[in-house]
Amino acid sequence: MANVILDERDQKFVLYEMLGLEKLCEHQRYAEFSRETFDMILAEAQKFAVEEILPTLKEADKEGCRLEKGQVHVPTCFHRIYKLFCEAGWNAMGFPPELGGQGLPHLMRVAANDWFLHNFAFMAYPGLSAGAAHLIEVYGTQAQKATYLGKMVTGEWAGTMCLTEPGAGTDVGSLMTKAVRQSDGTFRIQGTKIFITSGDHDLTENIIHPVLARIEGDPAGTKGISIFLVPKFLVNVDGSLGRRNDFEIANIEEKMGIHGSSTCLINFGDNGECYGELLGEEREGMKVMFQMMNEARIGVGMQGLTSGSIAYLHALQYAKERLQGASLMNFANPDAPRVPIIQHADIRRMLLWMKAHVEAMRAFMYFASYCGDRAVTAADEAEVEKWTGIFEVLTPVCKAYCSDVGFMVTNNAMQIYGGYGYCAEYPVEQFMRDEKIACIYEGANGIQALDLVGRKLGMKKGANFMALLGEMNATIARYQDDPTLADLAGDTQAAVNALADMAVFFARSAKAGKFMIPVGNAYPFLTMMGRVVSAWFLFWQAGIAQEKLSALCAHRGVDRADAAQMGALNKSDRDAAYYSGKLAAARYFIKHELPMVDAAVKAIKSEDLSIMDIADESFVA
Ligand SMILES: Cc1cc2nc3c(=O)[nH]c(=O)nc-3n(C[C@H](O)[C@H](O)[C@H](O)COP(=O)(O)OP(=O)(O)OC[C@H]3O[C@@H](n4cnc5c(N)ncnc54)[C@H](O)[C@@H]3O)c2cc1C
Repeated sequence: MANVILDERDQKFVLYEMLGLEKLCEHQRYAEFSRETFDMILAEAQKFAVEEILPTLKEADKEGCRLEKGQVHVPTCFHRIYKLFCEAGWNAMGFPPELGGQGLPHLMRVAANDWFLHNFAFMAYPGLSAGAAHLIEVYGTQAQKATYLGKMVTGEWAGTMCLTEPGAGTDVGSLMTKAVRQSDGTFRIQGTKIFITSGDHDLTENIIHPVLARIEGDPAGTKGISIFLVPKFLVNVDGSLGRRNDFEIANIEEKMGIHGSSTCLINFGDNGECYGELLGEEREGMKVMFQMMNEARIGVGMQGLTSGSIAYLHALQYAKERLQGASLMNFANPDAPRVPIIQHADIRRMLLWMKAHVEAMRAFMYFASYCGDRAVTAADEAEVEKWTGIFEVLTPVCKAYCSDVGFMVTNNAMQIYGGYGYCAEYPVEQFMRDEKIACIYEGANGIQALDLVGRKLGMKKGANFMALLGEMNATIARYQDDPTLADLAGDTQAAVNALADMAVFFARSAKAGKFMIPVGNAYPFLTMMGRVVSAWFLFWQAGIAQEKLSALCAHRGVDRADAAQMGALNKSDRDAAYYSGKLAAARYFIKHELPMVDAAVKAIKSEDLSIMDIADESFVA
């Protein structure tokens, strides 16, 4: 089967030419790895994704999940790939070797997942398990680690995250699930959780649910929340499985997409016998769960990237094959040959829009994980703070901007397929259905924007945001003297300055008591920031491509100013075509997309608050 998942040339470019993945191996932590091992892992990931994971996408969508006699059954085809996935150790990539993992750099993990996450319905099972296991690794007692961790790392047992309740979605602090203290130090859990991904399934023999609940007597709101490990089957001292815990899977949701992912309504403790054990300290549940939520936010941003990537490559292939209409040059000739739709200007506009956005998203997600690697390999505390800080400020943007853009890419893909795209016989309508949820779960995108504006911008007196701006300015300075990049450098710098200026404007507005200006404009600001950061990445990539293309042309004796010579080179040399494409994507994005930053600035600075001024009653006549 051909690879229509991601452009492996682009993946290698980001990893090696842009971020210098192999340099991480100079640090003791990653010393056992090399470019050869990374390439080998990526080749295996590609093979597994193309041969095993992709073929289950449609089948699982059709079959969906079933709830029978209180037990959820996942699509049949998931059983085989889950087994193979765990046997190959893909689920344990991020765990240290002493726990049975591979201790890979974050960046490599994200790169491998770039191959897998297009099938998010499947990947939610091992993904959430890894997140839950990581919670136990960091916050668990020795006994909890001994009981749960080993089997979760191998994938024999799974995990989830249980936050949401009917009356507590975004507002987690309103949760009603309670924990009743027992004399032996354990707790009895009672309450209802809804929308729990992988809340039940038949892939593993046990599932460990981290559940947010309030210990009786603890304060209202998020301050009073604790977190508990609630296993599906209790674990005996010798590690064997004991009684079925007292909770019931009452329903699985019928959803628009990700049909292979079970989304469960769980009633805990209807008989008063639901055992749970505290994870971490009492009333620190939100702090603990935030570790998993932040990891999941990166995962959801990856869902945006991978959905966009697979949709783009399908649309590109279709546009090259689908014959429709004549070339504009022959519009008056009814006998002119029909041409592939890729020759039509509007299709090219959509394709270049998709290419630029997908490649920017890849850089976004890879750079964010690279920040994690820079933090763990940093030489001193200041470096740790810097890279952790940049990661913090980028996290809500990765989640919200990439999931929104990923959805828009699937939308464009459907447009390119025309009527066929709307039909289930073709794959793009599934990409769109599967991707939409990424904009909603893990904190809806509007909430990510509030997190960005309300918490992340001002964190450490703005030092994290400033560190990010510093990186952007440094890249622009590196390439701005190249005459072919000068105008792009100028546009990008202006956008970075506008972003910095807007942060100051928000701070001043809040100080002056006009806090609704940042609150009401949080989402436009997040989108603006997503665009500026994307422009930075694409400019950075253009700088590298420019150098490489110049060297290549010099080597081949090609005059870059001669369009015919360049055309011939792009046809005969894949690297030349790739670097030319990078330059085109950066130019397109900066010239056509980045001006929307000016529009956002104008809109926000007008201080217009129609959204708050309009009466609720006036939304309808
Ligand atoms: C398929 C699926 C899988 C899921 N998986 C899980 C899971 O594994 N574990 C889990 O715990 N949950 C899970 N969820 C729940 C998901 O995280 C929530 O649906 C989401 O957080 C939003 O909560 P809600 O649906 O109650 O919407 P609401 O909180 O009612 O929000 C509705 C809208 O109002 C907006 N809004 C709400 N409050 C504010 C505010 N203060 N300011 C501005 N805007 C606001 C929101 O942004 C949203 O647009 C899943 C949901 C789905 C559909």
